[in-house]
Amino acid sequence: MHQAPVVLLDRDGTIIADRHYLADPDQVELLPRAAEGLLRLRRAGCKLAVITNQSGVGRGLFSLETLQRIHGRMMELLLAEGVEIEGIFFCPHTPDDRCDCRKPQPGLIQQAAEALGFRPAECFVVGDKPCDVELGQAVGARTVLVRTGYGAAVDAEKSCRPDYAVDDLCKAADVIEQAVCAAGELNRA
Ligand SMILES: [Mg+2]
Ligand SMILES: [Zn+2]
Repeated sequence: MHQAPVVLLDRDGTIIADRHYLADPDQVELLPRAAEGLLRLRRAGCKLAVITNQSGVGRGLFSLETLQRIHGRMMELLLAEGVEIEGIFFCPHTPDDRCDCRKPQPGLIQQAAEALGFRPAECFVVGDKPCDVELGQAVGARTVLVRTGYGAAVDAEKSCRPDYAVDDLCKAADVIEQAVCAAGELNRA
């Protein structure tokens, strides 16, 4: 039996409201229907992980400890809705650092793939910016642009070519479930 795919999710503008350089755990706010979409993916057997650029750390705008508290708060809000996340992988660097983990560089997917044991080409990457789509495409993954956060503007500009462009994570769950069903990948009890 095939396994349901791992779904890698951007954080800001995809799961939680995009606040410019979010630095306060109290400002973490789940986007409407985000938890609902993620819960459906979990019920379909998908593992979920977050991959996020957090250059605010490298820029000295907030500490790693603050970032961990922000992620703790996000996980707490998601768990309250029944959603478990397998891992959060972040790039703390600035563009000047020329690291290999700042999206769209593939380092975060490689970290996630090693930690969770999946092939990058078999996952879905979901996000609201071209760097998310380009990251997925760089490793041969399927890509979903959500029209939350910057996604509506990105979709209107056609500045990247995702496999799917949808309104939010609930709609993302629809297309991922359909794609997986069509491929016969979905776990069935
Ligand atoms: Mg984003
Ligand atoms: Zn990095």
